[in-house]
Amino acid sequence: MAALKSLEDAFIHELQDLLSAEQQLVKALPKMAKKASTPELREAFEEHAAMTETQVERLKQVFESLGRSGRAEKCDGMSGIIKEGESLMSSKNAEPEVLDAELIAAAQKVEHYEIASYGTVCQWAEQLGFDEAHELLGQTLAEEKETDAKLTKLAKKQVNVQAGYEKEE
Ligand code: FE
Ligand code: FE
Repeated sequence: MAALKSLEDAFIHELQDLLSAEQQLVKALPKMAKKASTPELREAFEEHAAMTETQVERLKQVFESLGRSGRAEKCDGMSGIIKEGESLMSSKNAEPEVLDAELIAAAQKVEHYEIASYGTVCQWAEQLGFDEAHELLGQTLAEEKETDAKLTKLAKKQVNVQAGYEKEE
């Protein structure tokens, strides 16, 4: 890791971490979409996968606005959350509806991680006077919050209800 001598160093470091997190998600979300049984959930994952590609581009724009190279630094946090999701998806003995509930749980952990990270860099960008970066990061922060809310709604009105019915043996 590069030296952390100023808030700007910290800002750049967190952006590099976020770039890695988003790049990992571009690969993970389509796999989650494939595993989802509820059509609305599959669609939500597919939509967010496309949105995530936009977010990668937006981060590159942020680096550009700062005159920095958009280098990713491996995000171990996101890698851990994705690993948990993968082990869920490889579960051999899962009812589809229950697996959907777990997929939503995993996806919301992802969104909350992103909301925490974007919340931080957004505030730092404002404090450091990087207006363009602040504007761009604010757009992504809003998208992550929206996605989280959408997943909560989907869970409450559909997936958790389906998963709550016990199967007759
Ligand atoms: Fe994202
Ligand atoms: Fe997201």
